[in-house]
Amino acid sequence: MSASALSARCSQSRSWVDSAVRLIGADTRRSADTHLLRYPLPSSWTKNVDVSLYLKDETTHITGSLKHRLARSLFLYGLCNGWIDENTTVIEASSGSTAVSEAYFAALLGLPFIAVMPASTSATKIALIESQGGRCHFVTESTQMYAEAQRLAAETGGHYLDQFTNAERATDWRGNNNIAESIFEQLGEETHPVPEWIVVGAGTGGTSATIGRYIRYRCHDTRLCVVDPENSAFFPSYASGGADVVTGVSSRIEGIGRPRVEPSFLPHVVDRMLSVPDAASVAAAHHVSRVLGRRVGPSTGTNIWGAFELLAEMAAEGRSGSVVTLLADSGDRYADTYFCDEWLTSQGLDPSASADVLAEFERSGRWPRSSAPRDSGPSDVRNSHSAANAKKPR
Ligand SMILES: *Cc1c(COP(=O)(O)O)cnc(C)c1O
Repeated sequence: MSASALSARCSQSRSWVDSAVRLIGADTRRSADTHLLRYPLPSSWTKNVDVSLYLKDETTHITGSLKHRLARSLFLYGLCNGWIDENTTVIEASSGSTAVSEAYFAALLGLPFIAVMPASTSATKIALIESQGGRCHFVTESTQMYAEAQRLAAETGGHYLDQFTNAERATDWRGNNNIAESIFEQLGEETHPVPEWIVVGAGTGGTSATIGRYIRYRCHDTRLCVVDPENSAFFPSYASGGADVVTGVSSRIEGIGRPRVEPSFLPHVVDRMLSVPDAASVAAAHHVSRVLGRRVGPSTGTNIWGAFELLAEMAAEGRSGSVVTLLADSGDRYADTYFCDEWLTSQGLDPSASADVLAEFERSGRWPRSSAPRDSGPSDVRNSHSAANAKKPR
C-alpha cells in the first residue's frame, strides 16, 4: 500500500473508531447504574450490634453480570489503543459470562465476534452467546483455549481481547463510575458510609484490582477481602507469596477461582483472603436465594459466606460498621447445576453442613471458630504488609 493510500485508510479508520467510541458512550448513557441493596440481617442480634450488609447487584446489567463492565472496558481499551477498527474480528477465550457481554458490544459496533470455548460447554451458554450475535469456536481441552484464540486472531487479522491479561489495565481504577466509585457514592447517606470490608471473588482478578486501588487512591479505611473457591491457585499463591502456583484443576464455582495465577490478579492490594469450601458457596447461594426470593449464582454464595464470617467477627468484637459484597450474576443460568440436587450429588457437593452454619449465623450472629476441615491447611490469610492491617487496633 502506498503512503497516501495508507494514510487515507487510517483516517477512514479514525472516523470509524470515533463513531464506535461514541456508540459505546451513548449505550452507557442509556444504561442505569446497578443497585446497592441492603441485605436484611435478622434484628434478633443486630439490635445489639450495629452492623449492616450491602449487595451491589451486578445482575441488572443488560447482559446479566458484572462482566458487562469488563467487556465495555476491553472494547474501549482496544479501540483507543488502535487495535480494533471496522475490519477487526474480535476474539475471546471464554465459555462464560465474559463472552456473553463481549458479544453484546461486538454487535453494538457491527463487528464479528468469536468465543473460543471447550467442546463441553453447555448448550444453554452457547445459545446465550449466539443470541447476542457471537460465534462459538470449540477446542477439545480447556487449556487449548488461549493458544487457539491467539491463532485465530493472527489468522483473521483480528484482536484477542484477552480478559485475564487486560482486565486490570483496561479499567479506569481512579473513577469514571467504576464499580468501586459507584459503591462509595451509593453508600453516601448510610450510617456507615465507609465500609469495614469489601468482599469479592477473583476470576480475572480485575474487580478486586479496581476496588483495591480505588480504596488506596481515596485513602479510605476500608479493607479488601478476596474469597476463593477450592482448586484455585489464587489463595495458595497469596498464602505462600509465590506467583507461580498452578493447581491445574478447574474451579467448580462458575466465574471465580483459576488453575493458575492470572496476570490481572494483584495480591498487594488485597488485605485478606478466605478460602471457601465449594459446598459452603452452594449452601450460601441457596440461602441468599431464599432470603431475596430470587436465585443468585454460586460465586455470590462464596461472597456471602465470606461476608457473613467477617460480620460475625465484627459482632464478636463488638465493632459496628458495614460490609459490602457483590451479587455477581443471577442463579437463573444454573437451574440444571447448582440448583439441581442430582447434579450436586454427581459433583460430590453436599451443602447441608454449611447450611447449618448459615442458619446459626442468622439466629445468633455467631460463626464457628473454624469452618474449614482441620487437615486442609490455613483458610484465612492476612496481608501483613498492608497499611490497613498495620493501622489497627481501632
Ligand atoms: C468474572 C466473575 C467474577 C470475578 O470477577 P473478576 O473481576 O473477573 O475477578 C465473579 N463472579 C462471576 C459470576 C463472574 O463471572
